[in-house]
Amino acid sequence: MRLILFGAPGSGKGTQAKLASQEWGLAHISTGDILRQEVSQGTPLGQRARAFMDDGALVPDDLILEMIGRRLEEDDARRGFILDGYPRTVPQAQGLDRLLSGLGQKIDAVISLEVSFEELTRRLTARRMCPGCGAIYNRISQPPRQSGVCDNCGRILEQRSDDRPETVANRLRVYRQQTEPVMEYYRAQGLWRRIDGARNPQEVFSSFKEVLTPRASGR
Ligand code: AMP
Repeated sequence: MRLILFGAPGSGKGTQAKLASQEWGLAHISTGDILRQEVSQGTPLGQRARAFMDDGALVPDDLILEMIGRRLEEDDARRGFILDGYPRTVPQAQGLDRLLSGLGQKIDAVISLEVSFEELTRRLTARRMCPGCGAIYNRISQPPRQSGVCDNCGRILEQRSDDRPETVANRLRVYRQQTEPVMEYYRAQGLWRRIDGARNPQEVFSSFKEVLTPRASGR
């Protein structure tokens, strides 16, 4: 099965993608996670991407397409994947179609997590992330057992630099202007499935499974 998880920053894509990858054995491919890793390792790609990320702007399409093209050729991705945070522009969606047709593959569904902008702002500024294992927490709705410390590996949690209030506003603006048009691209192909994302992760995941039921069984 090949899925795209679509939604604004803070809509819960990372959490749902992890649940889906466990449930169906899919490769979880998050362009944001790959980019953050490149930045922390100081690679040439990371060095070019960093300034865009710190501003809450999108990294240029050509860099993203090259990066995703390499990732889709890896063995785990060939068995099925869930894309998280990609495609974010119409040229990226068109580029994905070209890459997939070269691999003889196609997307089965695009799942859109719908959350109001007010709730997104609240969630993003309260989000904390573990620099060790990547676990995601929320100071209000999903706090760790011990304040500021990862439940899984005991590392001190951090706020992503782009989750600060001034950058969050820009990321939501960028989403409206550049990413929302991607919706129409997939609606026109009949792949679009909407889910109310303003609930707890398990409830959202139940709806996720429901909208996919016929496909999940026939992967
Ligand atoms: P995310 O973790 O998905 O919110 O991504 C964090 C940041 O990485 C974004 O604000 C962008 O700067 C960059 N990024 C992630 N995915 C993409 C993409 N598909 N296209 C362009 N920039 C991206």
